[in-house]
Amino acid sequence: MKLAARAQRLKPSATLAISAKAKALKAEGIDVVGFGAGEPDFDTPDNIKEEAIRAIKEGFTKYTPVGGIDELKNAIISRLKEDHGLEYAKSEIIVSCGAKHVLYNLSQALFEEGDEVIIPSPYWVSYPEQVTLAGATPVFIETNEEEGFKIDPDRLRRLITKKTKAIILNYPCNPTGATYTEEELKVIAEIALDAGLLIVSDEIYEKILYNGLTHTPVAKLGEDVKKITVLVNGVSKSYSMTGWRIGYAAGDKRIIEAMSNLQGQSTSNPTSISQRAAVEALKGPQDEVRRMVLEFEKRKNYVVERLNSIPGFRCFNPQGAFYVFPNISGFFGKRYSGKEIRSSVDFTEFLLEEAKVAVVPGIEFGADGYIRISYATSMEEIEKGMNRIEEAVGKLR
Ligand SMILES: *Cc1c(COP(=O)(O)O)cnc(C)c1O
Repeated sequence: MKLAARAQRLKPSATLAISAKAKALKAEGIDVVGFGAGEPDFDTPDNIKEEAIRAIKEGFTKYTPVGGIDELKNAIISRLKEDHGLEYAKSEIIVSCGAKHVLYNLSQALFEEGDEVIIPSPYWVSYPEQVTLAGATPVFIETNEEEGFKIDPDRLRRLITKKTKAIILNYPCNPTGATYTEEELKVIAEIALDAGLLIVSDEIYEKILYNGLTHTPVAKLGEDVKKITVLVNGVSKSYSMTGWRIGYAAGDKRIIEAMSNLQGQSTSNPTSISQRAAVEALKGPQDEVRRMVLEFEKRKNYVVERLNSIPGFRCFNPQGAFYVFPNISGFFGKRYSGKEIRSSVDFTEFLLEEAKVAVVPGIEFGADGYIRISYATSMEEIEKGMNRIEEAVGKLR
């Protein structure tokens, strides 16, 4: 049996190897602090759960229209209007099984052999894989903490060729926590307009912002920019609903229709019950979101301060999302138990073995001098993890 070339090309996740090791340690009864989570640790708010239960009791358990029920599309439209003054028609909205599925459909609908897609690095792990699966070529634009992990406009201009089809934006960013101001977005949008690029804008962390910062969707910068932008969002991160699998896109109706056709031949509609829950999430009270963000911000401040007080770490202060992405290249060349640390995977293994703390190596996000620490876990676990990290790195020679 021979697997299709496309399946052979798919990169298995290094994170899975690390989580397997962390799980094995836990199974041995060893208390491992988990900083690997890519989801909020809070429970889904009760009003949302209750709406799902109501949907089940009412028998709302059958197929729905492929691209989502009207009630949910309307809730998405109202939220985009109320939060950002953006106007979309129902034909410009699709609901899929999570934002990841939205992005997958989008890649399949837009990209093909010969296309180049610009992806800022560090990047969320699925972008390059999805672009490659579609037959296109990811082109990375490097960002670093000195520049606030933001795209340098000149570097972007230099990377654009005749083949460039789109740029993928993700802000607030997973893994760096960086976000963009309206002014910075304008510069990027101008470049995209000039070069005739599409903008795929993954704004799934839009609600998780600190320091009183507000989020500007790139689509809000003008009718011309809105036309070339597909806005991607979902309920997973804002409402602590990762398991419900509801994400959505807003954009040009030809693109939305192509995505819907793909979805019709693959998953069909997202779960009927989850759609009803998502309506409640978007239309119901929003104070739980604010409560979560306040809690995240407290933890973020603590983690950044602790890391920056440990020699060897250099930690960028994130503006959003629930990760820190410290530079750990200061530890390269150091040794423990006869082993030398030469990469983010080595450092991650060291933390797991010597500190019993699980993190994600930066190489997963295209940046080997870093690790990702998720603070979507309790303050007690965070304090324990930070103490352990400080003690372990203190022994490196
Ligand atoms: C979590 C995440 C997603 C996917 O979320 P879904 O659960 O599929 O809605 C998409 N983009 C980024 C950057 C993420 O961190």
